[in-house]
Amino acid sequence: MKTKSKSFKITYSTLNTNQMERVHQEFDSALINVKNDCGNNHSNWVNGKTIQGANTLKLRSPINQNHILGYFTQATHEQTAQAVQAAKDAFAAWNQMGWKARCALLQTAAGLIRDRKYYLAAVMTLEVGKNRLEALGDVEESADLISYYCQIMEENNGFVRQMDRLAANENVMGYLVPFGVWGVIAPFNFPMALSAGMAAGALATGNTVVYKPSSDAPWTGVLLNKVFVEAGLPDGVFNLLNGAGSIIGEELVTNDNVDGLVFTGSKIVGMDIYQRFSKHYPKPCIIEMGGKNPAIVTQNGNLDTAAEGIMRSAFGFGGQKCSACSRAYIEESVFHEFLELLLHKTKSLIIGDPTDQDTFLGPLINSNAYNDFQSYVDSAHKDGTVLTGGKLYSRSNLDNGFFVEPTIITNLEEDHPLVKSELFCPILYIRSVKNLGEALTFANDTEYGLTAGFFSEDQEEIDLFFNTIRAGVTYVNRRSGATTGAWPGVQPFCGWQSSGSTGKGCCGPYYVTQFMREQSRTVMT
Ligand code: NAP
Repeated sequence: MKTKSKSFKITYSTLNTNQMERVHQEFDSALINVKNDCGNNHSNWVNGKTIQGANTLKLRSPINQNHILGYFTQATHEQTAQAVQAAKDAFAAWNQMGWKARCALLQTAAGLIRDRKYYLAAVMTLEVGKNRLEALGDVEESADLISYYCQIMEENNGFVRQMDRLAANENVMGYLVPFGVWGVIAPFNFPMALSAGMAAGALATGNTVVYKPSSDAPWTGVLLNKVFVEAGLPDGVFNLLNGAGSIIGEELVTNDNVDGLVFTGSKIVGMDIYQRFSKHYPKPCIIEMGGKNPAIVTQNGNLDTAAEGIMRSAFGFGGQKCSACSRAYIEESVFHEFLELLLHKTKSLIIGDPTDQDTFLGPLINSNAYNDFQSYVDSAHKDGTVLTGGKLYSRSNLDNGFFVEPTIITNLEEDHPLVKSELFCPILYIRSVKNLGEALTFANDTEYGLTAGFFSEDQEEIDLFFNTIRAGVTYVNRRSGATTGAWPGVQPFCGWQSSGSTGKGCCGPYYVTQFMREQSRTVMT
């Protein structure tokens, strides 16, 4: 079961490829098919059957609110409980199937995702407003996450190992075994990759799943479910429920038959889930949350590389990434030169319809984010300085979408809410610092601890950065993204402090172990 493929793929680090013309042709023809499929009705999926909820969500594109993408049934509390029961009933057989057979099915699913990548990416551009390459990266990452977790099962022999013995007639085997039913609650911003990754972690290890996509990305959720169904997962092993977090999420958090929860999303929702999930005894709850990710540039850094990397991480997908760079600390001797480069690159970004080939920055996800952006900018004008951007982006063909300008702000106190809180929109705070020591102090002065970037050619400075920064995902001199762009099997993606609960990251070699518990099996002969 070899999983590593050398075939061409778009990742978040892809800046250029000689295959770009073909990529765009394939995307264009997939987009035509996707547009033809807009406006359809979509059901939920429980125990191998479609199921209709009480209400229907009419999903509109953030690019153009007049564009109806589809109608999505909304699950009730009772239907969520029904899905949990179906997952519970399916658990024993799925577990007993063994990891090799399970991973064979999951690898089939990964293959189907790769086969459909252009269609899936085109849906994602319309549904959440990612540009073409970001959407293709998300889809490729989904397939690679599934494959990587299967690879980890294989490398560890399904996490079964011979243990030592105290007596000659004692045989002890150590097993990691699944818990049972897992709730999988996904965010909007990596709608396929994070859904597929969390689900694959649970499924490969022998758990069954009740999956709740974001209400902003139900179509991608439906398509992921379709992939698992077509790959041949048995009934009840993977159940899809679109609907409100306050209904489905609440049932998953409080239902005693849910054995584990894996969530990616905001701190406010994640912490609430974490604090309430274990009622009668401790239950595993993996929560991956936000970030307020810094980048630091010293006088020993390549300024053009730094400006490019910071610009891409601050404004890629409109700053709507947990790993987005939202703070930049620049050594004062190079501050003005750096700022000039950063402003030039930022002003050159192409804002527009993300289905267009050349667009870098599409719309924000919804009206809440759009309104939040305006209030953040008002606050920046009042308390600090807006260096560029700061306005809604209006063009005749974009007037019904949530488009805003990439924005750089400065002259704020370090304890200002714009410097401290995760804003999740294209706003970058920048500050000149005396030296690396001061930059590190500011960088670490956050409740979060997800990603961090550094630009310097000086090895001592690099060592100091790695040894001092409090973040789980760190990068040095990365032009394709100062703080963004982790990939399965390449960058383990672990949130520290308010960014994550477990100290083990997705994309990394220890992720799947979190979906299992230990059992030693001693047999005296
Ligand atoms: P969100 O608002 O917290 O929603 C995440 C999921 O939780 C959605 O499916 C949502 O459902 C559901 N939910 C809402 N209320 C719930 C409740 N009371 N009980 C259970 N579930 C509930 O987050 P988002 O806006 O989609 O995503 C952005 C956030 O995710 C950012 O903070 C970002 O940093 C974080 N994120 C973190 C990582 C990471 O790896 N650390 C990766 C990506 C994103 P509805 O959509 O129906 O409300």
